Amino acid sequence: MNDSLNGREPGPGVATRSRLTVVSGPSGVGKSSVVGELRRLHPDLYFSVSVTTRAPRPGEIDGAHYHFVTRAEFDRMVEAGELLEHAEFAGNHYGTPRAPVEAALASGKPAVLEIELQGARQVRAAMPLAQLVMLVPPSWDTLVSRLTGRGTEEETVVARRLAIAQEELAASTEFDAVVVNADVRQAATELLTLVLTPSSD
Ligand code: GDP
Ligand code: ADP
Repeated sequence: MNDSLNGREPGPGVATRSRLTVVSGPSGVGKSSVVGELRRLHPDLYFSVSVTTRAPRPGEIDGAHYHFVTRAEFDRMVEAGELLEHAEFAGNHYGTPRAPVEAALASGKPAVLEIELQGARQVRAAMPLAQLVMLVPPSWDTLVSRLTGRGTEEETVVARRLAIAQEELAASTEFDAVVVNADVRQAATELLTLVLTPSSD
């Protein structure tokens, strides 16, 4: 494994390295909002663009929010080893293209992935020095009102996502850090400090 990929301890004289940070958290907690604010605070970080078989929501741009792909193309990428991790979530498939993440870390840029729990676990297994951050809501009721208030999913989809959310929140003990998203700016500032902490610390 490439030394820049958080898979090994740094060699002698290596003080710092750019780090891979995984941001997870239940649907509707505010991951996109907080990661978007992080991008405004620090545009020079590398933000991974996932592939997904989910249909685009109104306003989502192919290549910016996601690379929207067919199931056949997704399966081809899995077979070819082109995804760093991948998972099924609420009936759709999601994955992180490997090459751009590797290129960013090799060039010294901290990289940020916004992915769900199964993917976070895969990254942890592949890259033990990656940092796992879970974004949590101030309360369960806040999560419910954010997810329903966003208005992007039908009622059955919201219910499915809330059921998954309970499992995700229960897994917070597996994470290196937990950030409460009460205020987007505050949460993004906390996240930025974590992202910029080198992995040799
Ligand atoms: P939203 O996050 O509620 O707006 O809904 P999405 O349909 O965009 O994403 C659903 C879940 O998939 C979220 O938990 C995302 O963080 C997660 N996700 C997005 N991209 C990836 C990926 O590349 N890999 C994995 N494992 N999860 C992803
Ligand atoms: P996720 O990406 O985790 O699914 P979003 O970023 O889409 O979540 O946020 C879900 C909804 O909650 C959106 O309508 C967003 O504007 C709102 N939201 C996110 N963070 C906050 C916050 N700190 N305070 C109030 N509303 C928030």
